[in-house]
Amino acid sequence: MVAELIDGKGFALGLRERIATYVTHLKAEHGVTPGLAVVLVGEDPASQIYVRNKAKQTVETGMNSFEHKLDVTVSESQLLTLIGRLNADPAVHGILVQLPLPAHISEKAVIEAITPAKDVDGFHPENVGRVASGEGGIVPCTPMGSMMLIRHTLGDLSGLNAVVVGRSNIVGKPMAQLLLAQNCTVTVAHSRTRDLPALARSADILVAAVGRAEMVRGDWIKPGACVIDVGINRVEKADGSGYRVVGDVAFDEVREVAGSLTPVPGGVGPMTIACLLANTYLAACRIHGLATVGAF
Ligand code: NDP
Repeated sequence: MVAELIDGKGFALGLRERIATYVTHLKAEHGVTPGLAVVLVGEDPASQIYVRNKAKQTVETGMNSFEHKLDVTVSESQLLTLIGRLNADPAVHGILVQLPLPAHISEKAVIEAITPAKDVDGFHPENVGRVASGEGGIVPCTPMGSMMLIRHTLGDLSGLNAVVVGRSNIVGKPMAQLLLAQNCTVTVAHSRTRDLPALARSADILVAAVGRAEMVRGDWIKPGACVIDVGINRVEKADGSGYRVVGDVAFDEVREVAGSLTPVPGGVGPMTIACLLANTYLAACRIHGLATVGAF
């Protein structure tokens, strides 16, 4: 069997086009233009690329993008003051603070300072709680995008065994909640899990969110399983001519066994930014008390 490749890049493009249509409608009918503020502290090159891409795609979707680049020496209280301003700014419907932050700033304090209605990353404890208890809440972008790809590929997920490898607050835990809400039987694995290959082989849906290049091997996969590779790892090319990006899944091996598989790049990554835009649109609708035009 050779796995069907799940085209996250193409799916994300279609999603962004749909969001652009909804935004056009929101502007025309209600005079509301969704606005996303992105805050970047310091000069980390990877973060700078992410922020640039986010700003570009925000504008392409017809929304306003507000970029705030702060020096690495900015104090926590200065950053919190900026967040307070953005919370109060009626043109801003979504606030994203690019992580990681420098060590002298508490990520927890910053996340908790963002008003939950504008927390388009879905990291505020209020949104975490709402998602966990199935009471709405803003869903973190990477699990949200991964779930869209899974449902697009498999349809009804009821009764399927899902294994999520990784238990971070950003990916693993919310991913498990979303799968549970779709009636999967969910197991969350982590660095202390025993016999991970055997556990992985029980999965109809396997989500790898570990941050270890090509850790998930072909013989970990149940034949026909749907495999979602969240990992983004830079590894040196064999000929020493630079770096390439690989996932947490050994692509060539797993492709021979799985039923469907996301590539890296071009799988989950593009969905993350598209879902950020979806969350900004949804936040703008909710803040203005408007029904959303379309569903995602
Ligand atoms: P974290 O480092 O926060 O979490 C990694 C998780 O993997 C932890 O729960 C850890 O377990 C677990 N783990 C580590 N080693 C092993 C192992 N040997 N066996 C089993 N589990 C292990 O990472 P993130 O969740 O933030 O990110 C995961 C990956 O996803 C990264 O490659 C990241 O770059 C990528 N990513 C991609 C995004 C995208 O848009 N595509 C967005 C966000 C992240 P423990 O808790 O026990 O330490």
